[in-house]
Amino acid sequence: MLNLLAIALVGAGVLILLAALLSTRRLVAELPEGPMRSQWRLLAALIVVFVVGYAGYLAVFWGRHQVLADLLVPVVFACVACFAFLSSRLSLATVVNVRRMSTLDRANVTDALSGLDSRHYLDRRMREEMMRAERHGLAVSVMLLDIDEFASVNATYGHAVGDQVLTEIGRILSGGVRESDVLVRYGGEEIAVVATHTAPEAAMAVAERLRRDVEVGARKALLEAQGARRAITVSIGVAGREAGQKADTDLFAAAERALRRAKSEGRNRVVLG
Ligand code: GH3
Ligand code: MG
Ligand code: MG
Repeated sequence: MLNLLAIALVGAGVLILLAALLSTRRLVAELPEGPMRSQWRLLAALIVVFVVGYAGYLAVFWGRHQVLADLLVPVVFACVACFAFLSSRLSLATVVNVRRMSTLDRANVTDALSGLDSRHYLDRRMREEMMRAERHGLAVSVMLLDIDEFASVNATYGHAVGDQVLTEIGRILSGGVRESDVLVRYGGEEIAVVATHTAPEAAMAVAERLRRDVEVGARKALLEAQGARRAITVSIGVAGREAGQKADTDLFAAAERALRRAKSEGRNRVVLG
């Protein structure tokens, strides 16, 4: 009788370990390639070693469980198996949940049309970046871009083509700034870039490059999509702070003023505020 109980406990332990192995494998599949994935693989290998150990125990101690104390090891085996199973299930559920939350968060901050981050995100990131720059005396710059005569693009080709142009410009700009820069849809057809660790002079050079990228790329995209020959350009207002400078000006207000000057001076240009 005791013997049967011991076999049942160890057998159940093996089954539970196999279930833990399955959810660990699913967990490994969910994780990106990297050290954490390797560590979970190692854990899966350990579970296999456990299963072999349990089977070895059964083979060696088969029929030798005579007193109640002999059940101690099988009970511990079953508990260890339950622990391994619950840990792997919980870790899997945590990974899936965290992924879902970060996707939702992303959907919340991404502008549906241009694929750029939205104004809501800008407000949050901008506050963080400004505080960091102030605290450490870092340089920071803001660029505000507005598509030139966009109303006439809509009027000539329709709103849908206007949307495509906006999306294309978003794509060009995303490819032209650093990963650490904040690129957001600021208004209807206005886009803002917060360039971290970037002094105004350097930001001017970046803005000039972006202006040229749009001038060449957007025209080409419109020609390919619509067969239409037409210049698509942007005007850019830049404002920034050197490293160590005090944060006593509103960089966005300064960039907006510079953008207005770029418009009044003839468009398709970069002006420093
Ligand atoms: P400029 O900036 O050179 O002074 O002239 P503009 O014609 O671009 O003037 P403004 O910036 O004031 O015009 C904004 C236009 O952009 C009007 C609006 O219909 C269009 N627009 C804003 N958001 C969108 C959008 O999401 N899709 C499309 N297709 N058009 C948009
Ligand atoms: Mg505008
Ligand atoms: Mg415009």
